[in-house]
Amino acid sequence: MKKHHLFAALVLTLLSLGATNTFAKELVIYSARNEQLIKPLFDAYTKETGTEISFITDKAGPLLQRLKSEGKNTRADLLITVDAGNLWHAAREGVLQPVESIILQANILVHLRDPGNQWFGLSLRARTIVYSTERVKPADLSTYEELGAPQWKDRLLLRTSKKVYNQSLVAMLIAEHGEDGAEQVIRSWVANLAAKPFSNDTKMMQAILAGQGDVGIVNTYYFGRLLKKNPELKLALFWPNQKSTGVHVNISGAGVTRYAKHTEAAIKFLEWLSSEKAQNLFADGNMEYPVNQSVATHPDVAAWGDFKASKQNLAIAGQLQNSAIRLMDRADYR
Ligand code: FE
Repeated sequence: MKKHHLFAALVLTLLSLGATNTFAKELVIYSARNEQLIKPLFDAYTKETGTEISFITDKAGPLLQRLKSEGKNTRADLLITVDAGNLWHAAREGVLQPVESIILQANILVHLRDPGNQWFGLSLRARTIVYSTERVKPADLSTYEELGAPQWKDRLLLRTSKKVYNQSLVAMLIAEHGEDGAEQVIRSWVANLAAKPFSNDTKMMQAILAGQGDVGIVNTYYFGRLLKKNPELKLALFWPNQKSTGVHVNISGAGVTRYAKHTEAAIKFLEWLSSEKAQNLFADGNMEYPVNQSVATHPDVAAWGDFKASKQNLAIAGQLQNSAIRLMDRADYR
């Protein structure tokens, strides 16, 4: 009798192992995040679950094109990319599929994921004000809108409007102020520019250090990288709009592809990425904030100070992206 029980238990165990393995063996990922950032996560997941992960990395645009042209034949199960504008686009182009998961809904703040469940934020970055600690007092700063005030004439530096980060920022401004209100803000910024817009955030910050301007707008992790290289950096972050809309935030995130061959495994991996143990690996590697509220921010990032963040759903960054691009063009923001 005892032997019988043991045997039955063994069979059950083997069956359940087999069952999990049928959807957990393999996963193919297209990633716009670079290998150095994502490989440690993939390795940790493989070690924990035995799921083998193969991946390719490229820029967001080419990956989306590739998914579209591969269609049903794609090998990709999951798309990882940055900026809600890009994720929204991928959903709009029909390369993602909705995922119903109570785990994802519990772990990820509601405004950081698609209302249609096609994409989910996995790390959070703020796009905030950066200033020269030599020439600016934080008391002089207040809001994004105020960067258009006369006191910042010939002192403001910006990154190019071609970058999706600024398109998303302006989309969120349109949601807050309407098109006319947002256009006034952008025109006032352009009128205050001390130099032509820069190709990236880091060059913009270096220009502030070189005295070409005094304030700018930057993604927090670029500031973090510069600060890591130079702890004596004469720059600091400022959290604007604390009495109103809050700091503009954006995400890196992911979605399960429409023609995934390992859908279950892809969802399991997404859920794992949003869990406590993976959130730090994912966010800390790029000096970002976790999207899971129960996870602590890395001390180096937390040291930049607490802030109130905008709670507007990031789908707006996609919905209003074209309006934002046209608006910036009208306002001569290049
Ligand atoms: Fe970036």
